[in-house]
Amino acid sequence: MQTTTVFGPDSQQAYCPNCGKNVMTYAEPKTNLITWLICLFTGFWCILCCDCTKDVDHRCPICATYLGAYRR
Ligand SMILES: [Zn+2]
Repeated sequence: MQTTTVFGPDSQQAYCPNCGKNVMTYAEPKTNLITWLICLFTGFWCILCCDCTKDVDHRCPICATYLGAYRR
């Protein structure tokens, strides 16, 4: 049975196939183009300060392998 890791917005435990062990992921917020466009058109610069429009990449803290992403 295969379990699918569901990634949240914060650092969490996940299996790194490269290291072959469970690690605490490094959560890297991604400020994407859409975020910037929303800011430009609305003027709500506070959007950049909250995580509501950001995706988060999860990487292994040891080998930096991409493990998954959290998407809104
Ligand atoms: Zn690793």
